[in-house]
Amino acid sequence: MLKLQKIIESMRKRICLTVILASLVLVACANSNPHFDPKKGHHRRDGFVNSDQALPIGQHPWYEIFWRRMRGDFKPLAEPADGYGAFAQRWSTPVDKTLISQRHDGPILTWLGHAGMLLQVGGLNILIDPQLGEFAGPVSWLASKRRVPAPLTVDQLPPIDLVLISHNHYDHLDRATVKQLAALQKPRWLVPLGIKAWLDDEGIAGAEEMDWWDAQTEGALTVRFTPAQHWSKRTPFDTNATLWGGFAIEWTPSGSSKPWRFLYTGDTGYSKDFAEIRRRLGPVDFLAVPIGAYLPRDFMRPQHNNPDEAVQIMLDLEAQQAFGVHWGTFELTQEAFDQPPRDLAAALEQRGLPQERFWLFKHGESRKIGARPGNGKFLAAR
Ligand code: ZN
Ligand code: ZN
Repeated sequence: MLKLQKIIESMRKRICLTVILASLVLVACANSNPHFDPKKGHHRRDGFVNSDQALPIGQHPWYEIFWRRMRGDFKPLAEPADGYGAFAQRWSTPVDKTLISQRHDGPILTWLGHAGMLLQVGGLNILIDPQLGEFAGPVSWLASKRRVPAPLTVDQLPPIDLVLISHNHYDHLDRATVKQLAALQKPRWLVPLGIKAWLDDEGIAGAEEMDWWDAQTEGALTVRFTPAQHWSKRTPFDTNATLWGGFAIEWTPSGSSKPWRFLYTGDTGYSKDFAEIRRRLGPVDFLAVPIGAYLPRDFMRPQHNNPDEAVQIMLDLEAQQAFGVHWGTFELTQEAFDQPPRDLAAALEQRGLPQERFWLFKHGESRKIGARPGNGKFLAAR
């Protein structure tokens, strides 16, 4: 009996020691940034900060998040008019599989729902923030629910040359989607600093990490990682340990000296980053910018712009044409699914801007998004 007690006691000690050691390793990992460069303002020894370095994002204590979740901050207060079924029907269209299966020189964009896009340009197929899963979160019971079906499955995607991931939040980096894609295809992965290790752990090797303003080329394209005002987190131990941002894609058609410039901001609060992107890179031809996940404002303002700020971002970037993403797919925040389009229309009207300057696609919809060479006028053809 005494012997048994001793064995149990020794096992208990071992378990305690293991838990303490594991916690120390986790804390040590969480507190060291292997990419830390003291010359860069947004780098910290334990991760990254925004351009506005005094702005704390993602540092809310767990009990505040718990209380907000209980209060209902992270799901719509009301259903869209006529319910989710009618909303899904109104905002969905079958993908033109023949169109996306072809290679295109002039740019064509297909909205895959939420922040997921297929950009076909310069003969290349670029997949941005693919999230085709049923939920966005670590486990289904702790996740944001999908309310509009994904317009296609991973195996229906055309051959993908480049995958761009803006940050590691679950609504942008979905384990099931990227693992299935990597099992079927061997694209090139461009990701923010810190995300390669996660992909490596998932068996997706060879990802290339980018810091803000870093550039990579692929064919006739130059891809730059651009700053945004946001944050990152996948576990309780990794807040802001990996970088976040957006992507600027420049395509210079053969025989032309003027590049066509696409910018996807990534998730962002309104910030001076966009005036700086305009200053460094030049005006944008086509802008993909979030218009959803902005209520309650006191919590969301630093991290998610609202539709009026999306219009301001379009003006800051001197974008000829904008397109709203990050809305109408997952239950993330308090606004109803049909509120972002209404708020966007009001913001454009209030500023005296034409509604056509800011497009909304249906899930699965493709449009030509290139400017006609020479006169710079936009093609609205579908
Ligand atoms: Zn995010
Ligand atoms: Zn997001």
